[in-house]
Amino acid sequence: MQKCRYNGTPIYAFNVKGKNETINYSIEKQWKKAGEMNELICDECEASVIFRCGKVNIPHFAHKSDFQGGNPCSYSDETEEHIEGKKLLLNYMKLLYPDIYAEVRYKLPERKRADLYFKFEDGQELIIEFQRQRLSVSYWDNKREFYKKLGLNNIWFLSGKKEDLEELIREYQLTFWNRMILNDSNNTILYLDVEQKQITIIKKVTVIDNDTNELIYDKLFNRTYGLTDIKILPDGSIECDFNASFNTERDKFVQEYLENKRREAEERERLRIELEEKKKKRLEEQERRRKEEIEKLERLSQVAKQNTYTTDRTDAWSDIGYSRKSYSSDTYKQKPKKSYEYYSRNDDYYKDKVNKAISGYKFGIDNLVRILTQCGSSEYSTIKKFFEAEINKGNIRAENVYREVLRLSGLD
Ligand SMILES: [Zn+2]
Repeated sequence: MQKCRYNGTPIYAFNVKGKNETINYSIEKQWKKAGEMNELICDECEASVIFRCGKVNIPHFAHKSDFQGGNPCSYSDETEEHIEGKKLLLNYMKLLYPDIYAEVRYKLPERKRADLYFKFEDGQELIIEFQRQRLSVSYWDNKREFYKKLGLNNIWFLSGKKEDLEELIREYQLTFWNRMILNDSNNTILYLDVEQKQITIIKKVTVIDNDTNELIYDKLFNRTYGLTDIKILPDGSIECDFNASFNTERDKFVQEYLENKRREAEERERLRIELEEKKKKRLEEQERRRKEEIEKLERLSQVAKQNTYTTDRTDAWSDIGYSRKSYSSDTYKQKPKKSYEYYSRNDDYYKDKVNKAISGYKFGIDNLVRILTQCGSSEYSTIKKFFEAEINKGNIRAENVYREVLRLSGLD
């Protein structure tokens, strides 16, 4: 054990060494003698203890060998690191606040102890706990509750070396303990490297995208300080540039994130426009082809129509063995009549012939003359009907053409 009481006052075995780690022989001699005189009392069970200061073990107090187990002492052995850590923090606080009351392994109600207890000049109290990394969750949780109940500010350091930082951070991801301590201590874990006299602050930094409500940043930000570069304040907070620098880092991230987001949005918009234009072009192309197709069909249909006229005429001419080169009413009359069933036509056909003759169609009159000279009375009356309809409308040209047709046909 490191602590005992000497005439009622707490003393610490590690204080036998001076600043340069050399043994103060007068203290050693004094404490050894006090032990023999039963003046050193165990802080836990109040049995007499002796002071040991050898070459192998670190200086410590121990129950006397005749210590009977009737009153078992719970002052268990501590690791050297734990002892050194407490010593480091004790001396650091005493240096920082020369008038502070400081006690290691401070007795609290309910048989509890605080690793380090400080009372400042103005009456503020502060507990500092220095724990090995894997203390039990329930211990930590219960003790925090306990301090809360007593209204005692408390600050917890875990033992950890800077070179183990990566592993510490990995452990945060894995162990419930670390996640819990983070969540319950302002997202901060403090590590004390006893050997290097450095503390490392690890803080969980999260950023949420307000638009999407998504967690976009969840990182452990860490920074290591020499113990003398920071200041532990009476309320348990730590004065250093940590918050400023982690804010800077977070802001930088947020800025980059927003910039990326903006760029991505622009890119999405660009792609959207590009796609839209492609779609528009595709539709235009489809429309163009459709029109082309229609025009093609129209052209074909016109050609077909023209072909129909030609065929009509050709057929008509050839059917009756007519030669365009020589025709006259006599010729027509001389030709043998063919049965008009061959070219029996409906009214529309004759109406078309009449209209063509009236409008000056090249062989309009000739065609009518041919029909009239070759065909029967029904054709004649049909043709007459269409001419008369036009003439009755006052179409003088129709009248002239009709007269000419009749004349050439020998029907006048
Ligand atoms: Zn004891």
